[in-house]
Amino acid sequence: MSKNIPSKNLLLISTSTTYGTGYLEHAEEEVKALLAGKSSILFIPYARPGGISHKDYTAKVREALQTWGISVTGVHEYDDAVKAVNEAEAVFIGGGNTFVLLRNLYANKVIMPLQERVQKGMPYMGTSAGTNVAGKTIGTTNDMPIVHVKTFDALQLVPFNINPHYQDPTEGSTHMGETRETRIAEFHHHNRQPVVGLREGSMLRIMGDKIFLKGPLSARIFLQGEKPMEFEPGDDIQFLLEAYW
Ligand code: ASP
Repeated sequence: MSKNIPSKNLLLISTSTTYGTGYLEHAEEEVKALLAGKSSILFIPYARPGGISHKDYTAKVREALQTWGISVTGVHEYDDAVKAVNEAEAVFIGGGNTFVLLRNLYANKVIMPLQERVQKGMPYMGTSAGTNVAGKTIGTTNDMPIVHVKTFDALQLVPFNINPHYQDPTEGSTHMGETRETRIAEFHHHNRQPVVGLREGSMLRIMGDKIFLKGPLSARIFLQGEKPMEFEPGDDIQFLLEAYW
């Protein structure tokens, strides 16, 4: 008999909505693969994009996922968030403000339960801020620190950081602010973990000890002290899981 080895099952999506498509539509195939055999998911609406209420945010996600046969409950609908996580078939953390999200994950004491369940194979899906918090820290978010957090340490489901909605410099632009690439280089003066710049429509799929880039575009990967590198979907990016634990 084969041993039942715990196997991570993650889908880290840059953005919930790409230009001209509906909520999660561009990721349909990957979401369905992640949730194969499951009929429900626990949604964590803590990031509250645009200040939307937990109820309204969950309703939006419910509408999208129920058409694929997945029922959605919001973590705020339970008296005990820890119990909700412990009993969930799968978890989805949506985007919004990454600082608000991380603060609420700590305040509701769900960091450890999420880490333990994901380690044992519970499917985890994140978009944007929900993808940021799957990384080592939230130090490469694009968000403003609109609330105070005691630590930038995130769920650490993967041993690297992510910069979602990654943007290349616009050719001919007269904008004088730092580029994303410059900001990530600054990050690497103080931190050593790799950073994955995930463009709109891109996502990372982690299955056990394997990692794959999905979506139509390449991703820009930044390693401390090295020139940024471009990887296409299908390229070997296994080093991301191996080098920095
Ligand atoms: N605010 C983004 C989101 O949509 C996160 C980010 O850009 O870092 O969740």
